[in-house]
Amino acid sequence: MKPKHGKHILTINSGSSSLKTALFLMDKKETMELSARIERIGLSRGYFQIKDGKGRILAEEHPRLPDQDAALNKFLKWLQKRKTPLAAVGHRVVNGGLHYDQPELVTPRMEKTLSGLEPLDPNHLPQELKAVKTVRRFYPDLAQVACFDTAFHRHMPDVAQWYPLPRELWREGVRRYGFHGLSYEYLIHEMARVAGPQAARGRVIIAHLGNGASVAAIRGGKSMDTTMGFTPTGGLMMGTRSGDLDPGVVLYLLREKFMPLPAVSDLVNHRAGLLGVSGISPDLRDLMAQRAKNPRAAEAIELFCYQARKFLGALAGALGGLDTLVFTAGIGENMPWIRRRICQRLDFLGIHLDSALNERNAAVISRPGSQVTVRVMRTNEELMIARHTRRLLRHKIRNEG
Ligand code: ADP
Repeated sequence: MKPKHGKHILTINSGSSSLKTALFLMDKKETMELSARIERIGLSRGYFQIKDGKGRILAEEHPRLPDQDAALNKFLKWLQKRKTPLAAVGHRVVNGGLHYDQPELVTPRMEKTLSGLEPLDPNHLPQELKAVKTVRRFYPDLAQVACFDTAFHRHMPDVAQWYPLPRELWREGVRRYGFHGLSYEYLIHEMARVAGPQAARGRVIIAHLGNGASVAAIRGGKSMDTTMGFTPTGGLMMGTRSGDLDPGVVLYLLREKFMPLPAVSDLVNHRAGLLGVSGISPDLRDLMAQRAKNPRAAEAIELFCYQARKFLGALAGALGGLDTLVFTAGIGENMPWIRRRICQRLDFLGIHLDSALNERNAAVISRPGSQVTVRVMRTNEELMIARHTRRLLRHKIRNEG
């Protein structure tokens, strides 16, 4: 892997049935030149779309893509034809276990360590490691960087990481890791820029509410606690993930319903959450559209807002108070009704929304004089990956040359 001078950095973010990639020109303006979304991987009618930095569609198809590898192959073939000289590739890696508390260059040693971690996260790590190998096939000499979603939370206080289980399990890594770290890290940097370093160092709760959803408590710019746990299935209910369950529920499914392990995993990861409760859709926009006529849609929405409110209260307790609340991701950035519902009855914490500002998705949606400043911020995990990748590449170039 020879480090290359150059400014184009490709980011790769592979989800369970989707793949997002983006190409950044990492000059002072950090321009995103391309972005691709590949969805419904493994399903009959996939979706493959590439846009330029201005949002114009450059490619759109409905191919059948059996797996992540096929999806990435298809995109990289397309990219190679453009002949853009890449400086490096940055990957989002969901789980870095106990080993990684910051992004690092991919080395054979890291790949070995990460494959050893596969039992901790069989739903993500195998395909993320495969993505590294696929990129290497197309660009054998290119530096690759792994950016871990767990890294931001790695130094949470022990009390936030412990599960009340025997010590052997803690030692072998059964603990709360927390996820969405790249999003939280980006937003804390962004907060320092827009609201000043003092605000970013205060007591901050960020509610990352997308298909995957979690909430994090941050103080002094560092993670103090978060709702997701050992895996991204835990914490707040999500589009299709259950969030926290009494362990007895899983035992019941195994013992009384004789559900095989893959069926339990499928239930808690793909058939629960908003989809499970509503029986309609994992997408909150679909549920909002049916709320008035379908009580199940209304109940699923109510449960989501109630759980989010409860976790906000718990994390405010963990922080010993609150200065700023940030809403982000698809739901957090775009759905005023949901934000209002979540914040209802949180006035005792000093959270007072301004209805008009909230309706407009304004940058600050709290009333002037509200003890807690409530913000709506656009997250950008891809840019965070590109920044880390650029930094590590510079470091490597300095050291080697
Ligand atoms: P992911 O975790 O897949 O990145 P997103 O952050 O795109 O998810 O969030 C998807 C959720 O946000 C869905 O429930 C969707 O209904 C909701 N949503 C509401 N408005 C929008 C919007 N304008 N764009 C994207 N998602 C939106």
